[in-house]
Amino acid sequence: FDNGSDAGLCSADCGREYGCGYGLRLARPESEFEMMRKSPAEILNNIFGFDSFLGLQNEIIDHVIAGGDALVLMPTGGGKSLCYQIPALCRDGAGLVISPLLALMRDQVESLNQLGVRASVLNSTLAYGEIKATEQKLLEGSLDLVYVSPEKLLTQEFLDHLSKCKLSLIAIDEAHCVSQWGHDFRPGYLKLNILKKLFPNIPRLALTATADGPTRRDIVERLELREGRLFVSSFDRPNIKYTIVSKDDSKNKLIKFIEDNHSGDSGIVYCMSRNKVETIAKWLTEEGFNALPYHAGMDKNHRELNQDKFSKEEGVIIVATIAFGMGIDKPDVRFVAHLDLPKSLESYYQETGRAGRDGLKSNAWLAYGLEDLSKIINFIVSSNASEDQKRIERQKLDALLGFCETMQCRRQVLLEYFGESLKNPCGNCDTCLEPVKSFDATVATQKALSCVYKTGERFGAAYIIDVLLGSNSARIVQFGHDKISTYGIGKEYSKNQWRSIFRQLVAKNLLVVDMEGHGGYSLGENSRGVLRGDEKVLLREEQFSKTVGRTSGKSRKRTKVTLEKAEDEALFQDLRAHRQELASEQKVPPFIIFHDTTLLEMVQKRPTSIVEFGRLSGVGKAKMERYAAGFLQVLSVPEKAES
Ligand code: ADP
Ligand code: ZN
Repeated sequence: FDNGSDAGLCSADCGREYGCGYGLRLARPESEFEMMRKSPAEILNNIFGFDSFLGLQNEIIDHVIAGGDALVLMPTGGGKSLCYQIPALCRDGAGLVISPLLALMRDQVESLNQLGVRASVLNSTLAYGEIKATEQKLLEGSLDLVYVSPEKLLTQEFLDHLSKCKLSLIAIDEAHCVSQWGHDFRPGYLKLNILKKLFPNIPRLALTATADGPTRRDIVERLELREGRLFVSSFDRPNIKYTIVSKDDSKNKLIKFIEDNHSGDSGIVYCMSRNKVETIAKWLTEEGFNALPYHAGMDKNHRELNQDKFSKEEGVIIVATIAFGMGIDKPDVRFVAHLDLPKSLESYYQETGRAGRDGLKSNAWLAYGLEDLSKIINFIVSSNASEDQKRIERQKLDALLGFCETMQCRRQVLLEYFGESLKNPCGNCDTCLEPVKSFDATVATQKALSCVYKTGERFGAAYIIDVLLGSNSARIVQFGHDKISTYGIGKEYSKNQWRSIFRQLVAKNLLVVDMEGHGGYSLGENSRGVLRGDEKVLLREEQFSKTVGRTSGKSRKRTKVTLEKAEDEALFQDLRAHRQELASEQKVPPFIIFHDTTLLEMVQKRPTSIVEFGRLSGVGKAKMERYAAGFLQVLSVPEKAES
């Protein structure tokens, strides 16, 4: 160090400031070095172990570091957390993160601690002593991030305490909870606008994965973010493959889907009712899967235990109602299966979005049938919503049906619904991979429509199909429908084929399910042209096999390897086992130690030294020091001699 020249000037005496590059040694006083914060890229690399930013992360981070407010819309798995975690580490003071999800807060704080970041959580479930200790640290400035529930935040006592602390930023996670539009509305969120008054100079950013227009406007208005910047990422989740099957034989189809693609993987199976959750979980268990139920009617402890197992053990399948999901941070959920139709495309996208947050290949699988329709319509009709709201719900249902019955790329339809457009078919959905054959269904449609008409526009699909097939059920005879001209005129198709046709006619609005909730059909406004023979109808041709072939439930082994080579797969499993050991010792979920992506990179790159290990994605300095030796040992076990 130069002692002679004036502090702050280049030691080469070129007259420029220090750091000009001409002086070999800089005259910067040591303390200032310490004060200099690291750059976002350095933090990304040294602490989080990632090479580059994803999508808009970089822009958002720069904007917040500069003191700007922002609303960030990114899909699940898009990388929202770094958008506030890195600025919090770059700016002075502690980052305040508001989140309504206790389990998620706990996991995030644990993950940050593993990375060597000083993070804590504050919520009402903690002991008094713990809360006081964290509050003291916050006051002393020895925390980088503190996660708070809205209830805790909004107590006068805590707000008073906060006003004495130095904050780097305020992040409002799950910001859609401020909107009455969404289903996650939290009244506490409405009061968060107080933060603007209390901390006018602290940047605030709101983050959400719910992107529709009304919700977005609500967030901006209610959180008073009008001067902030809006960042919207693409909502595409290219690693998720979408598949929809018809509901006949759905249980066996589900097992075959899991066996073929996901033996030993974690997944979620959604069902509409609590009863069905119980039945399916029991049945999957009997079939040899590690399946657990989850729904709001269960005893709280039991429910939490199951959720805990799902996140801490490998390969658990959770069977759940939609009560399950918010607050699940697990990055390696490999599949999301729906055994019943979700409420809307928004719900579908949110629920399926829980698969593959780590960016690895994942599946979204849905079995859907006509019976779902009447249930959902019943649901809408019997709710207390206003007529306007009901009409909106009905439109949402139509969009969902259109998606289910499309012959186009599923991803294109989905993204279009969310206001984005995808130029080319994705190549990673069922309709792309196995293009749907269509058939001229004009005559079939005419038969179906006139049968609906002739029976008085009050019966549902099951009955109409019976009439078309010429069934001699007592009901048909009782109503005299065995005498009408459409009786028995549809024998060229099977029951399943007719069901498929009816679903598509509903999706095309040629048939309308009545809004009284009885599930009866009437003719759609656009049906006249078809009945007159002026318009052709093309429908998708579905392949129906009698039974779904699958292996027996007993002694099921991992059939599908994640990796092509057996030795790679074996190593991957060894690494997973080591990770599970570490996780159990520390009582944390395995993904908090390392994500699957990092384990897979270990398999590919086979690092042999600590330095090489430190270069893996997801390995920052703290994790390198802590875990390199153990994993290197697993990696160095000599491969079995070839015989
Ligand atoms: P979100 O909250 O938007 O659902 P997360 O913040 O949990 O997303 O991030 C999703 C996944 O992406 C996590 O596994 C995270 O570690 C990873 N990730 C985030 N940013 C990066 C990055 N820049 N490079 C590599 N992986 C990243
Ligand atoms: Zn596609």
